[in-house]
Amino acid sequence: MLDGFGRKIDYLRISVTDRCNFRCQYCMSEKMTFMPKNELLTLEEICLIAERFISHGVKKIRLTGGEPLVRRDMQDVIKRLGRKVETGELDELTLTTNGSLLTEYAEHLAVNNVRRINVSLDILDPDKFAEITRGAKVAEVLAGIKAAKHAGIRVKINMVALRDFNQDALIPMVEYCAEEGHDLTVIETMPMGDVGADRKLEHISAQEFIAPLSNHYSLSPIEHRSAGPARYMAVEPLGLRLGLITPLSHNFCDDCNRLRLTTDGKIFMCLGHNAHVDLRAAVRNEGVGAVDQLLSKALKLKPLRHEFNDQLYGSAEILERHMNVTGG
Ligand code: SAM
Ligand code: SF4
Repeated sequence: MLDGFGRKIDYLRISVTDRCNFRCQYCMSEKMTFMPKNELLTLEEICLIAERFISHGVKKIRLTGGEPLVRRDMQDVIKRLGRKVETGELDELTLTTNGSLLTEYAEHLAVNNVRRINVSLDILDPDKFAEITRGAKVAEVLAGIKAAKHAGIRVKINMVALRDFNQDALIPMVEYCAEEGHDLTVIETMPMGDVGADRKLEHISAQEFIAPLSNHYSLSPIEHRSAGPARYMAVEPLGLRLGLITPLSHNFCDDCNRLRLTTDGKIFMCLGHNAHVDLRAAVRNEGVGAVDQLLSKALKLKPLRHEFNDQLYGSAEILERHMNVTGG
């Protein structure tokens, strides 16, 4: 699949639920309302749509949310899509999770061909972790990460950079990741949805966030690339690979290869734009074959770049959509 700008699209991210057992302050408001259950795609619909996308050339699928592992029967989706890795139709099935349910799920993920996952962990300090997630326990996440490692799954930690909150936590995080053999990626906050806070105040560029690290360790850019937009640095002598995802300070849209299926069956071509097509009604009324036509329409809608900077600094309207609906 090629979009209107000639970019090859082969990566699908699926938000399997907008619900979550955490309420991270930068992602959700405290009193978050979720979609009525009948608006969500059923798990069968998710699988049928994903299979249709695979037949059109999608080679990598990431399950996300909300928290993907809070949706009941996720085992079946993982099993069904995991088989596509075995047959070679997919190169990779992966997952972004808050880690809290991994002790229960790690083995199941591993036997169903999930070889790498991303786990969000912004800070190791238990009190500050409870503060940013509005009540979650870091010990559960750390136990989940251990279970994933034990099951043979490679873990990458996602750490959202938050001004005046977790910059001091970077060195302990870098040292934890190096010791445990996890990769680490620092992500700039994106202005998505009203979370009841001033997005400008929490924002800090990834470069500024990691700057103090060079007082302790040597940092040098490396060529490594993943399927995503991260740029990488080596942190020596720890032997740690540190990724930076910089949607605001260093735009990476030129080689964007992804599309996103929301919880309620919309295809968004960009995290930061409202252009979308609605698959749910079409699939329910006409069957899964309706995906093909809507997909070619969607490819033409993919914008050249997001507008997060304009949205953050006020010259464009902030998106109403929260991150958990489209899937981070
Ligand atoms: N619940 C899972 C988790 O936290 O990993 C998956 C969904 S979450 C929306 C996916 C990723 O988006 C997480 O790494 C989270 O930290 C990040 N995220 C959420 N809101 C964000 C925002 N406004 N800006 C940048 N990253 C955000
Ligand atoms: Fe839940 Fe992930 Fe959003 Fe945190 S970032 S509230 S864990 S969906």
